[in-house]
Amino acid sequence: MRSYGITEAVRDAIIAAQGGVCYLCLRAPAVHVDHCHKTGRVRGVLCLNCNVGVGLFKEDPERMRRAAEYLEGTRGSQHS
Ligand SMILES: [Zn+2]
Repeated sequence: MRSYGITEAVRDAIIAAQGGVCYLCLRAPAVHVDHCHKTGRVRGVLCLNCNVGVGLFKEDPERMRRAAEYLEGTRGSQHS
């Protein structure tokens, strides 16, 4: 696994701070060091599914906010 410039100790500390689970879903094991592709900053450690999900949303916060509201039923084309 690529370390993205952080040591294993740092990675392990981040994982421990997250309780050993993915920062986003809080269920699956944290295995993937996620970093901002623009700044290189480490954001957290994610499971594989969440890492792929964030990528499929193009790492776009606004798109993901809209998706969250969409799923909660407070936003959508059919919303009345
Ligand atoms: Zn996850």
